[in-house]
Amino acid sequence: MRERGVDALLVGPSADLRYLVGYHALPLERLTLLVVPAEGDATLVAPALEAPRARSSGATDHAELATWEETDDPIALVRDLLRAAGVGADATYAVQDRLWTSFTLRLQDALLARAWLPGSSVLRDLRIAKTPDEVAALKRAGAAIDRVHEQVPALLRPGRTEHEVGRDIAERILDEHDEVNFVIVASGPNGASPHHETGSRVLEAGDAVVVDVGGTREGYCSDMTRNYTLGPADPVYRELHDVLEASQVAATEVVRPGIEAHEVDRVARRIISEAGWGPQFLHRTGHGIGVEEHEEPWIVEGNDEPLVPGMAFSVEPGIYVADRWGARIEDIVVVTEDGADRCNLLPRGLVEVDL
Ligand code: ZN
Ligand code: ZN
Ligand code: ZN
Repeated sequence: MRERGVDALLVGPSADLRYLVGYHALPLERLTLLVVPAEGDATLVAPALEAPRARSSGATDHAELATWEETDDPIALVRDLLRAAGVGADATYAVQDRLWTSFTLRLQDALLARAWLPGSSVLRDLRIAKTPDEVAALKRAGAAIDRVHEQVPALLRPGRTEHEVGRDIAERILDEHDEVNFVIVASGPNGASPHHETGSRVLEAGDAVVVDVGGTREGYCSDMTRNYTLGPADPVYRELHDVLEASQVAATEVVRPGIEAHEVDRVARRIISEAGWGPQFLHRTGHGIGVEEHEEPWIVEGNDEPLVPGMAFSVEPGIYVADRWGARIEDIVVVTEDGADRCNLLPRGLVEVDL
């Protein structure tokens, strides 16, 4: 914060708050705000009725707790805390990127700062490279979602709806995680929509099914995609999947410190384009992952930020043929001095389910 000229950081309920003090605060109309002055101790401002949750989260090991009663003005409390810490009206504040405007506007009125910056201006560099403990948590989350995918073939049967399969997968995610983040079961033509909403379509023999699932375990996210067919795959689909697998493997192998983030995307895209599917690869190759499902670094053309050890992100090329089918292979990798350390270790190949 000192390097960036920030006098105080203000963090509401968010992944940033979980990252800093381990508190999964509810995003309420009542203000919860971690106040971090550049000098001195941090204070967690919270509604009195939330104090038990704040304490049991362990947040009070990292910050003083200052509670406010229903008829108090929490914005005035924040201002008084800051003034007491020597942060005056000429200060520069960094505000967590997703703090609701209903709070931000009132804080701006009350604090009369010199400048306001996004919280990410001080938090992104901390979050983007994971510590060894964070990497270990990501790997446990990765192993957990591997175990979920192992059970998917038994759930895919003609006559079942995507929704029924999705509900069973969600249960298995919960066996292995604290929370279900999302379940995508995209069968047949629905596979052509990368973020398909799992729905009422009934699975048929011969269908290709894209299964992309993730949860949160010990505060860290998993996210993994594999492709299945009900019975033997159509030869064209198998060919498409082979190209995709070659792309995913090559992109994973290019990962190492010092290369620019978009190089991973270029390698993945080149292989798919050379096979003639370039226009069907509709999205970037990956996204960072950690306490949030999608965070920096973005693995996308134009991102020339060099990879550094500890960065964790998905490598997830996809090929989507409208009205026909789709496929995506997704693993999470961590950048190490020796290249990519994979958090997901299940084979990437197409899984042809015996019916
Ligand atoms: Zn996605
Ligand atoms: Zn995914
Ligand atoms: Zn993903």
